[in-house]
Amino acid sequence: MEITVNNTRIVLLKGDLIEQATEAVVNAANSGLLGGGGVDGAIHRAGGPKILEECKLIRAKQGGCPTGKAVITSGGNLKAKYVIHTVGPVWHGDNANESTLLRNAYYNSLLLAKENNIKTISFPSISTGAYRYPVGQAAEIALRTVISFAKENDIDEIRFVLFSDNDYQKYKSALLHLIPS
Ligand code: ADP
Repeated sequence: MEITVNNTRIVLLKGDLIEQATEAVVNAANSGLLGGGGVDGAIHRAGGPKILEECKLIRAKQGGCPTGKAVITSGGNLKAKYVIHTVGPVWHGDNANESTLLRNAYYNSLLLAKENNIKTISFPSISTGAYRYPVGQAAEIALRTVISFAKENDIDEIRFVLFSDNDYQKYKSALLHLIPS
């Protein structure tokens, strides 16, 4: 599914993030920046050791990445030139500011893309795996955030790469729900 907001294509597809040939792909990282399971593990496996070396340099400089913030490395062996590593919140039942932190993770990733003149970017469904954020609620926040960014900024494509049919359907209904606005 695809919609256009100003000059930005917002695309939902079912697939594997590491296969995407957008200029940047976003990693659902953890604050330590040293890799992990899920999409993080897949990115480091496919992208090779260069990404981890750059993450270690960032750690040495700033001591990791706080929840809701983002950092950038090269894409190593991936098709994407850059990886933007962001840290989504762990779900605690929506009583620890999770929705704001999830919004910040998307927004700060997009700001970092803008600073680096990146015009096409792919996101996974941040926080909805190991971090247990309910996917329907996460989809609505993710889509609201990128739509509002697209209204104010010049970016060609924002792609959501959903790993399962269920995730794809949840993002699709959230997007259909948001379109009239
Ligand atoms: P988090 O810790 O932020 O929850 P996870 O990596 O555990 O991050 O999960 C985030 C989402 O990414 C989940 O929906 C998971 O199914 C999905 N995912 C895992 N591997 C990939 C991949 N290669 N491409 C796209 N999505 C993936």
